[in-house]
Amino acid sequence: MNIQSMTLPEMTAAIKELGQPAFRGKQVYTWLHKGVRSYDEMTNLSKGLREQLAEKYPIYTPKVVRKQESKKDGTIKYLWQLADGNCVETVLMRYHYGNTVCISTEVGCAMGCAFCASTIGGLVRRLEPYEMLNEVLFTQIDSGLPISRIVLMGIGEPLDNFDNVMRFLELVNSEDGMNISMRHISLSTCGLIPKIDELAKRKMQISLAISLHGPNDEIRSRVMPVNKAYPIEPLLECCRRYYDATSRRIHFEYAMIDGVNDRECDAKELIRRLKGLPAHFNLIPLNHVEESPLKPSSKAAVAAFQKILEDGGITATVRRTLGSDIDASCGQLRRKYNKENH
Ligand code: SAH
Repeated sequence: MNIQSMTLPEMTAAIKELGQPAFRGKQVYTWLHKGVRSYDEMTNLSKGLREQLAEKYPIYTPKVVRKQESKKDGTIKYLWQLADGNCVETVLMRYHYGNTVCISTEVGCAMGCAFCASTIGGLVRRLEPYEMLNEVLFTQIDSGLPISRIVLMGIGEPLDNFDNVMRFLELVNSEDGMNISMRHISLSTCGLIPKIDELAKRKMQISLAISLHGPNDEIRSRVMPVNKAYPIEPLLECCRRYYDATSRRIHFEYAMIDGVNDRECDAKELIRRLKGLPAHFNLIPLNHVEESPLKPSSKAAVAAFQKILEDGGITATVRRTLGSDIDASCGQLRRKYNKENH
């Protein structure tokens, strides 16, 4: 395993194997979680040990290949190049309640949502735990802005990379690392039911967001092929189980698409289906993706939809679009870069 993906006990064991005392494990762990790029920066280790470690456990850190900063709202988007040459995006958003990073969990995505730029070239590979950690660490280092919140809403489907994502959460939450509270982390999924059930068993304090984007199977299957495997009723039953297990209110994301899912009857159907499930809706005016014929709903349609949900007892907010001048939505920058370079 890459040393940067090891938990503290694992790292301590690995360092002990090199004939070193246990406390050296914690020293190395602390350095790695500060985002050093080489063992030479670990000044409290002997030169001999640094060389031994470099030989056995190379450190991989991402390189900035593009960085775009929004003039409107200070949102910064990074395109990182990983050790194998693949690129992923991370977005830093500056909210009044804290700097938040949106990280990618996979290179590309297999889920095939009709409106999403991340899935156009399919799934290339899943990210390792340390690669996700590095997105957070190096965004913090490069920007000089302290990060207190994370959303797993970048490229990829986090629950399709379950074990690595769970390990990433453990790393980023660790007291000797970035120590980011689970309550400040949101995980968004297109609705992989067996994995949501697995997540429920862990009773984590993270927020769970479900990408719904349609009130019924007919509409949802049209924009989200995953709905054919995991249709809406079983998905909502699964959400109820998740709520029973964790007592955490579920967030539903709903990209508003003109003439597809934004009618009055769609909002009313949602109210009927969600009855009794503590839920919060994030209405997101669709970000237009070049390759897709789908268009965003009008402001008026979004506002009307929100009102119907609220009148029906479902809290709903319209998500502010940050970084619209810098291709800041899902997979657009990577897509552009790949097109220019291949
Ligand atoms: N795979 C996960 C997380 C990644 S996307 C998921 O499906 O939830 C984060 C959110 O952005 C999802 O709700 C996704 O459906 C939405 N999204 C993707 N492309 C979009 C676009 N062009 N406009 C608006 N929302 C989009």
